[in-house]
Amino acid sequence: MPTIAFLGLGAIGAPMARHLPAHGFDLIVWNRTRERAEQFAKAVRARVAATPAEAARESDVVITCLPTSREVEALLDGDDGLLAGFRRGAILVDCTSGDPVTSRHIATRLGERGVAFVDAPVSGGKRGAEEGTLTVMCGGDIASVERARPVLSAFGKNIVHCGDVGAGDMVKAVNQALLAIHIWATGEGLATLAKAGVDTRVALEVINTSSGRSNTSMNLFPERVLSRAFPRTFRLALLDKDLRIAADMAREVGVPAPLTQLASELFGEARAELGEEADHVEAVRVIERTAGVEIGT
Ligand code: NDP
Repeated sequence: MPTIAFLGLGAIGAPMARHLPAHGFDLIVWNRTRERAEQFAKAVRARVAATPAEAARESDVVITCLPTSREVEALLDGDDGLLAGFRRGAILVDCTSGDPVTSRHIATRLGERGVAFVDAPVSGGKRGAEEGTLTVMCGGDIASVERARPVLSAFGKNIVHCGDVGAGDMVKAVNQALLAIHIWATGEGLATLAKAGVDTRVALEVINTSSGRSNTSMNLFPERVLSRAFPRTFRLALLDKDLRIAADMAREVGVPAPLTQLASELFGEARAELGEEADHVEAVRVIERTAGVEIGT
């Protein structure tokens, strides 16, 4: 069985990595904050690497799951960096929700060293990661994606080849723009209904058997907004980053995308107001504050 290195044991990375030993892979982990990796290795059969180079040196497949492509690219360089450790013929599978331009740049740099690259962002949230049912959107040549597939299958259910390097990032960015637009639109609609005196639980039940329903209205709002639980599973700051990628992409290819641009502005403002640790669904709090009403009470 190949040896896998997993770098980035954050909210989604840790539950993804946890599946690998159970699927028979030898696992090496690295995390910027080492204690987090030590903690992980206490619970899961894995070795802790001191540096990215050390993790890569012993591995056939290296998986990264960091906030943005910028941090992934920064991990390549220096004496302790991935490039210092990669074996020829290895593959870097980047599960970060990245940006296609940086992914292509990383792929070129790795290609010069005989290392393959696949961008492989995921969807399905923390729960999907825990259950091993994530959707994985892959960009890269078919041979590399097929090499990555058995590893990705440890935590993914739908593993789809979307196109060349960057295509996975692009599909993910559009998915995230849709998620953000659904959150904001559902929040606006329910705030309006609440202020007009309509019971939002009743309204949501009606919408959820009608044509305006979405994963956001069916799952996120009942579980997180109406319950007032607002669990922190996916940072608003990361959704803001995704929206910027989607907006930049539309601009680059010359598609007018006013909704995506507006969502990017609104979530950027929400991030500034609520901070780096707020969950993405907490953007609804901004709508509630400006509307002077609480949804679900
Ligand atoms: P978190 O913020 O929870 O974790 C980020 C991870 O990256 C941590 O391991 C952190 O290390 C590490 N990190 C941060 N900055 C650096 C750096 N400069 N150098 C090296 N390591 C760094 O993020 P998530 O796990 O939630 O998200 C990771 C990626 O997955 C993002 O691109 C996100 O958009 C995407 N994603 C997240 C989902 C979710 O539900 N959370 C769902 C789908 C995709 P440290 O422990 O030291 O802070």
